[in-house]
Amino acid sequence: MRGQRVFVAGHRGMVGGAIVRRLQALGYGDIVVRSHAELDLTRQADVERFFAGQGIEAVFLAAAKVGGIHANHSYPADFILQNLQIQCNVIGAAHQAGVQRLLFLGSSCIYPRLAPQPMTEAALLTGPLEPTNEPYAIAKIAGIKLCESFNRQFGRDYRSVMPTNLYGPGDNFHPENSHVIPALMRRFHQAVQNDEPEVVVWGSGTPLREFLHVDDMAAASVFVHELAPAAYQAHTEPMLSHINVGTGVDCSIAELARTMAQVTGYRGRVVFDATKPDGAPRKLMEVSRLADMGWRAQWSLADGLADTYRWYREHPQAHRA
Ligand code: GDP
Repeated sequence: MRGQRVFVAGHRGMVGGAIVRRLQALGYGDIVVRSHAELDLTRQADVERFFAGQGIEAVFLAAAKVGGIHANHSYPADFILQNLQIQCNVIGAAHQAGVQRLLFLGSSCIYPRLAPQPMTEAALLTGPLEPTNEPYAIAKIAGIKLCESFNRQFGRDYRSVMPTNLYGPGDNFHPENSHVIPALMRRFHQAVQNDEPEVVVWGSGTPLREFLHVDDMAAASVFVHELAPAAYQAHTEPMLSHINVGTGVDCSIAELARTMAQVTGYRGRVVFDATKPDGAPRKLMEVSRLADMGWRAQWSLADGLADTYRWYREHPQAHRA
């Protein structure tokens, strides 16, 4: 398996980059990557041409248009269109080129807004989605169903993993369009630098979220990829094949802000801006499927935030996002 020619789609992103590092650490010697300029995954003919000539044996599909609550709200058409295009093109072309094994990366927002917590894989398609990211979620649900359909019709082995909210080195630190961890890290860091008395946190502070360090996500992804087909099938069903990846622990946004203040050394006030949306009230994954397969997350939130903050301070380009 580790001698395979593996294509990591989205290697410049936080997750794809972490997957490449993990594969390299495990001794994978033939990893194929393409930058956006070299291969635009939203262009079907280009993607088909690429796969036809490469002899790819396995794919990690970590390329996606992603963003936080504000970005999803502002660019819904981009989120649904680009994600559907990338998935259809990569999964379809991989199949045409005879690729037997593929890992599709989704998101916990595939689950209904009011799914019982913690959310099991079986919660998929049992109720209405969170409106702030519904277009993105619909694309990701379609990706899972694409994989399952190729498995059922053509005997492929296309698997799906659904991470909870991810963070870590290489994240997008844009002040408006990023997810909550990088957004707050940037804001607290700037407040410390400029000696500001107040930091604003969006929403009420009460929503509960689960956060996973991207290196844990990469480790889980390669773990699931390497499982023998019988082991994967023993824990999944043909039409309920995706696997949750998380820590099994959540915290409120207010608690996150407190931990972020400690990590960044901020001592001023934290105020909540209730005019900004809260999104889903709680998002916690039920992770026993993956635990039964033999994998558990390693990073605590405090250690993970400290690691991410170290990276952020060492990478000035992240401050300009
Ligand atoms: P979500 O899990 O899809 O809602 O993704 P986000 O990471 O964007 O938001 C998580 C929660 O953090 C939501 O309740 C936001 O309102 C809250 N939040 C607080 N401050 C911020 C911020 O500066 N940026 C973002 N994106 N979310 C924030």
